[in-house]
This record gives sequence, C-alpha cells and structure tokens, in this order.
Amino acid sequence: MKKRDTKRSNLPKNHPRYESLKYRHEIIEGMHNLVVAEAGLIAHGRGECFDYILGEKTNEVAEKAIKAAVAALLLAEKPVISVNGNTAALVPRELVKLSKVVNALLEINLFYKKKGRVKAIKKVLEKAGATDIRGTSKKEMVEIEGLESNRRFCDSIIDADLIMVPLEDGDRTEALKKIDKKVITVDLNPVSRTSIWADITIVDNIIRAIPKMILIAEELKEFTQEQLTQIVAEFNNKKNIQDALELIKNYIEQQKKDAFKILNNH
Ligand code: ATP
Ligand code: MG
Repeated sequence: MKKRDTKRSNLPKNHPRYESLKYRHEIIEGMHNLVVAEAGLIAHGRGECFDYILGEKTNEVAEKAIKAAVAALLLAEKPVISVNGNTAALVPRELVKLSKVVNALLEINLFYKKKGRVKAIKKVLEKAGATDIRGTSKKEMVEIEGLESNRRFCDSIIDADLIMVPLEDGDRTEALKKIDKKVITVDLNPVSRTSIWADITIVDNIIRAIPKMILIAEELKEFTQEQLTQIVAEFNNKKNIQDALELIKNYIEQQKKDAFKILNNH
C-alpha cells in the first residue's frame, strides 16, 4: 500500500494559506487516528467558510465574548469543557491549559460513536497533559432528556452549572438550555442553532479563541468576584451576534470592492 503523504513538514511554509493547510492536516491526521469522525472534516470545511468571510482573524466582537466567557468560567462553581474530535485534534494542549487556568473539568462528548474513538481522544488529551478526563466510562454516564443523539450521554456535565461546548451540534445546546445549564460556545457560524441558543457565543476559530481565552484568564484571575460579575452582566449575546453579522456584511462589501478593482484591471 502507498504510504500516506500527509506530513506537516511537506507543507510549503510560504504558501499563502499555510495556517489553513496546517490545520487541515491536523484534522486529516486526526481522522486517520480515529480522533476525528469522517463528518468532522465536513464540519471543519463549514467552519473555514465562515472564517473566510470573517477575515480569518479574531475581531473585537469575538474579543468581547471571550472576555465574558472567561469571566463566567472563573465565576462558575462547576464548569465543564466539552471536548469533541475536532477540538481534540486542533487544540489539545490549549484545551488542557484552559481547563487548568479556569479550573474546569474536561469531558469527552461525541456525536459519532465508533469503537476506539473515546480511547483515542483520551490518549491525545493525556499526551497534552490532562490528568482527569471525564466521559470515558459508559457506566458513569446519565442521559440528558429530550436528546436522541449519542451526545445525550454525559458524566460531569449533568452536575455542571456552566458548560463550554465548542463546535457543538444545535440539538444538544438546545437540550442543555432546556435543563437550565449556562452554555458558552465557540462557533464560526454566528447563526448556527448552537450560536443562537448559547448564553455566550464566541464567533471565532477555535484555534485562535482558546489561546486568547488562556491569556485573558491569566489576567481576569486577579479580578474580584464583583468585577467578574459586572463583565458578565454587561455582555449582551444578542447584540454580539448581530455585530458579528454586521462585520461579515462589511467584510463582504469590502471584498466586493477589492475584487472589482482586480477584475477591472484584467
Ligand atoms: P447547528 O447544529 O448548531 O445548527 P450545524 O449543524 O451547522 O450547526 P455542526 O456540524 O452541528 O453544524 O457544528 C459544527 C459547527 O462548528 C458549525 O457551525 C461550524 O461552522 C463550526 N466550526 C467548524 N470548525 C470550527 C472551528 N475550527 N472553529 C470554530 N467553529 C468551527
Ligand atoms: Mg448540527
């Protein structure tokens, strides 16, 4: 059999889309190692599309949501970060670091179950420094009511007061809201069902959002409970989502102008 040629070192560093190619590579490798589901590749592509029309950078709208999310995580009594295949493949070390800084548990929760997947993700997280990983033993799981998918099985999430669900499916976000959980998401699509249902929606790429959250958490750790509460209270998710849509609209307008200039000079 022909050997796979997917080594990251084969990517030309001066390629204009080097970063994007690098993370595509992580997702593909993740799929070969059972960490990422086949459908995860398509979900990543959907994310890339939104990232493109957001200018592929963390904007001030996302920064506001990141600050509110970190403040909420620091205030929470039992916060949990839910981990799926794509997040484990893209940002394993950063997820572990964030969980330590804000004192949140990591719980593996998957939409697509396949023999060996949970074990593969657990291995990736352990390699990244995680010591207490939840969601690995079916015996300790309970089911969330009103949810048909595999994501209904949860461990520490059932007792959590705040759950961060990056790259999540809308069904579970809705189910978690229906059992009165506070929800934070990182989702490049500002109008996915998850984005709309969440309490705090960070419209940004997970690869940029998590490192930024770690930096902000180091800073906000010094804040008082009152100061953190004020940050959360001042944040308006509805307005933030509208602002993200406005940014996309403006970015496309600008692209239209720039493309016209090039097209007119052909
Ligand atoms: P929903 O179920 O919430 O309506 P969906 O069905 O459109 O969303 P899912 O596959 O369920 O999509 O969830 C994946 C979500 O994660 C998508 O909204 C996608 O844009 C987003 N996404 C994919 N990759 C990234 C990434 N690297 N960073 C942030 N968001 C991402
Ligand atoms: Mg979905």
